[in-house]
Amino acid sequence: MEDVEKNLRERLTKVAQCLWDDGLVSGTAGNISARIPGTNKCIIKPSGFTMCELKPEDFIIVDIYTLSVLEGKHKPSIETPFHTTMYRIRSDVGGVVHTHSHYATVFSIAGVELIPMGMVLYFAPKLAKGVGIAKYGDPGTEQLASNIGVALETKYAALMPHHGAIAVGKDVEEAYVNAKMVEELAKLQYEVMQIGKPQPLPEETLKSFIDSKHGKV
Ligand SMILES: [Zn+2]
Repeated sequence: MEDVEKNLRERLTKVAQCLWDDGLVSGTAGNISARIPGTNKCIIKPSGFTMCELKPEDFIIVDIYTLSVLEGKHKPSIETPFHTTMYRIRSDVGGVVHTHSHYATVFSIAGVELIPMGMVLYFAPKLAKGVGIAKYGDPGTEQLASNIGVALETKYAALMPHHGAIAVGKDVEEAYVNAKMVEELAKLQYEVMQIGKPQPLPEETLKSFIDSKHGKV
């Protein structure tokens, strides 16, 4: 196994455990992947596994254009279509994380947009571009993949109606942080809405976050 691939498998396993420990996924729900840099391949979670039981060798390598399995003994995630869509349409995306985190799912069902507010964004500055809301698509379908592609044409996270959230990043660690902060943002907004109207950060601040190198503090 090449070093790059081995390294990615180990990093995916670590991120999977973090998602589990954070409570952002439960049961066999949620999926993650990483692009193998400089190739048309990505490494993705197998279907039917909990995030806490994954071992590096369980992940599957698929072709991002044909979706065919190139390596692996398990079935790839049923959401392989939207992971591969993101790698095809966004050359800057190196990692994709999909969760069923609770508050993000609540907002996705209500169809209420997340407001870019609070210092949550300092740690996930790309979310200052806003969190999209994809059109509804059934799980595992090309329609869902296509709807997510539209919602994430320029953004780094989106709510998936009746389902959960998706976040992308330059690598799987950044996608994980974005997914976690989407949930933090949703929880914060839910609580703010109990006592008042959520206010976005000033436009200039949001712009400075987008242009900044924050996030690694
Ligand atoms: Zn899902």
